[in-house]
Amino acid sequence: MSNQDFPLIFELSQESRTGYSLPDFDVPETNVDDMIGEAYVRKSEPDLPEVSELQIMRHYTGLSKRNHGVDSGFYPLGSCTMKYNPKMNEDVARLTGFSHIHPYQPVESVQGALHLMYDLQESLAAITGMDTVTLQPAAGAHGEWTGLMMIRAYHEARGETNRTKVIVPDSAHGTNPASATVAGFEAVTVKSDERGLVDLEDLKRVVDEQTAALMLTNPNTLGLFEEDIEEMAAIVHEAGGKLYYDGANLNAILGYARPGDMGFDVVHLNLHKTFTGPHGGGGPGSGPVGVTAEFAEYLPAPILTKENDLYVFDYDRPHSIGRVKPYYGNFGINVRAYTYIRTMGPEGLKKVSEYAVINANYMMRRLQEAFDLPFDRHCKHEFILSGKRQKKLGVRTLDMAKRLLDFGYHPPTIYFPINVEEALMIEPTETESKETLDDFIDRMIQIAHEAENDPEKVQEAPHTTIVSRMDETQAARKPVLRYQKEQ
Ligand SMILES: *Cc1c(COP(=O)(O)O)cnc(C)c1O
Repeated sequence: MSNQDFPLIFELSQESRTGYSLPDFDVPETNVDDMIGEAYVRKSEPDLPEVSELQIMRHYTGLSKRNHGVDSGFYPLGSCTMKYNPKMNEDVARLTGFSHIHPYQPVESVQGALHLMYDLQESLAAITGMDTVTLQPAAGAHGEWTGLMMIRAYHEARGETNRTKVIVPDSAHGTNPASATVAGFEAVTVKSDERGLVDLEDLKRVVDEQTAALMLTNPNTLGLFEEDIEEMAAIVHEAGGKLYYDGANLNAILGYARPGDMGFDVVHLNLHKTFTGPHGGGGPGSGPVGVTAEFAEYLPAPILTKENDLYVFDYDRPHSIGRVKPYYGNFGINVRAYTYIRTMGPEGLKKVSEYAVINANYMMRRLQEAFDLPFDRHCKHEFILSGKRQKKLGVRTLDMAKRLLDFGYHPPTIYFPINVEEALMIEPTETESKETLDDFIDRMIQIAHEAENDPEKVQEAPHTTIVSRMDETQAARKPVLRYQKEQ
């Protein structure tokens, strides 16, 4: 059965066919009207499809096959680290000692879970070179906001309320200026130079006594290592500002470089990227924040500490920015990240960054003939191509991304970063085989040839998916999330 033939559930409906069988009542029937009030009781039967259990099973299994995920195919989405999520993580997260506990349980009865959280905090502190870590934030952007609120509290405690500006490079992830704005700061842009790195002269120009912080990703979102980081840290610190590290993707430096050693004061991590928490579909994620000792008093309360061999929560934090998440963070994702870190060990984590960086450079060098390479230097875990050459032939980067769907690949990130024309941002990750990388490269080269010889084939792609080009604006603004029976 091809995907196109996949019948929809309302079309299969046959009057009075059922997908369940229930025993007769062995207790007196209750009058629903009395229980919930007559106004709430529906007057007519719901218009649901009438199908068998097997039909409904096939319906949902069929729907699941229409989706693309890391478990079904290559997913080189730059800045998102769509890498394999080891199934060992799932086994551990399902242990009843972790999955059947409740946040209101007395701490004495959940010492194992708290021990895991404590150890995870310590591991993340060691990995990032920070002094203390909170596991509360639920995502990367949430971590950014939490970190910036701490930076705000820090400056306010010193009476420096004039520090209202957060500097963000033009190549930054969109969440950076957004988080700065939501945290009550004004986002100020610093330019990149022709190397793709922060322009030091421009940085000196924008830094002043109003600077609260510089937010930086390193390697940056062009996949390049900011080699002047120590000088940049000095410029910002001398002006009284702080350094915020966007550590959503740590794949390139794990075990090799630490934000704390580069001079950063506050760091967030995405456990749902580098640390193999499942990622996509809107979460749940986890965005822990690490800080240097001078920020510890501002961390979100409560703080997990150890008192006489007992793990406890400390609520007595007068300078805390307050709780940022109900309970203690997304515990299940934290269990997965902990399992991953313990499975890999320090040496394994170093291998992660080695393979991630080698894979990205291998791909970049093999693709540089067929596409424009705006920054011709060694990359870290991801790299940027430009579809400028193909655009002149009438084939846009969007067309090439759609054409990749025909080969069963999720396209790379496109049109980001915004400072590169017709950008394609590719992140292969360390978990893919050389065969997969080679096949993807061959397909990309094939598409570049098609752009020259058969542009319509690319412009009209995809040819093999259930739906072809959608009205993406309508799809985002007015999504049809429910199949409804035609009247
Ligand atoms: C993914 C990402 C974020 C945002 O993380 P979310 O968990 O999606 O909020 C921030 N910065 C960078 C560089 C990222 O790649």
